[in-house]
Amino acid sequence: MNRKKRILSGMRPTGKLHLGHLVGALENWVSLQDEYENYHLIADYHALTTDLDSSNVYQNSIDMLIDWLSVGLDPEKSPMFRQSQIKQHTELHLIFSMLITSARLERNPTVKDQVRDLNIENITYGHLGYPVLQSADILLYKGECVPVGDDQVPHIEITREIARKFNLQYGSVFPEPEPLLTRFPRLPGLDGSQKMSKSAGNTILISDEPDVVQKKMRSAVTDPLKIRKGDQGRPEICLVYTYHQKFNPTDTAEIASGCRSSALGCVGCKSKCATKIIEHLTPFREKRKYYEENKQVVLEILNEGEIKGRKVAEATMNEVRTVMGFG
Ligand code: SF4
Repeated sequence: MNRKKRILSGMRPTGKLHLGHLVGALENWVSLQDEYENYHLIADYHALTTDLDSSNVYQNSIDMLIDWLSVGLDPEKSPMFRQSQIKQHTELHLIFSMLITSARLERNPTVKDQVRDLNIENITYGHLGYPVLQSADILLYKGECVPVGDDQVPHIEITREIARKFNLQYGSVFPEPEPLLTRFPRLPGLDGSQKMSKSAGNTILISDEPDVVQKKMRSAVTDPLKIRKGDQGRPEICLVYTYHQKFNPTDTAEIASGCRSSALGCVGCKSKCATKIIEHLTPFREKRKYYEENKQVVLEILNEGEIKGRKVAEATMNEVRTVMGFG
């Protein structure tokens, strides 16, 4: 039997997850569970790159883990663990930081975009080196594939460069991981901005109750030229139509023609879309309820995941220290 390729994927714990996470990453992770050997990282040290206040990191990690479990990640197939609890991440990060120049990291387009979007005046050493820690995260588990959106591809390229350099210098230890591009990489926010994000306050959470989803959808921006029901609209530029394409694909032709012909009004269209999103989220909310009422189960899953992750990490670091001559 062919060996399954190994995936490492992770997220920074910023609290409860939203539809952007679901569509852009989690559905993909769940669909890959049988085909690959999976490791899922709660990248809690990475949370420090943009927020030094770590007082909520633990609770955010637990909330995120519950969302992962609720949408269908299976801890038997996909161990889930916290970066901070496996010390080898920081050890490998230190070694890797010697294998890349600061000029190379400054050219990284993803960091340049973050500096612009977050209005960062003086980037820290740790934030600039974020892709190096990410490389350590991936290569510690010898990840061969990394499911990412297209904005993360430059980071995978840095990981490949570091793996290549290490292997040339010390001996072949690491694979050069390939990106597995997500099919629906970005879901726009309710305000029409390109990305759903907690900081922009334009999200629908996976855990939102039905009335909250309906209420949030009422605020979603639409075609600005369609003011009344009798106006003709342009679904191709409408955010709500994008949501229909994702959560209500069977009705999109009817909605597009109703919008263009003015037979369909935005109030009804948004409500229909909210209903479809609620239907999609209902099984996840029910599972979440179980985990919230059984926190011990969640902590056991985390503990088991950390035991499995640590075992792989220790084996890799033993190999690294040996080929480097540290004994
Ligand atoms: S009818 Fe629907 S698709 Fe058309 S503009 Fe309004 S919300 Fe958008």
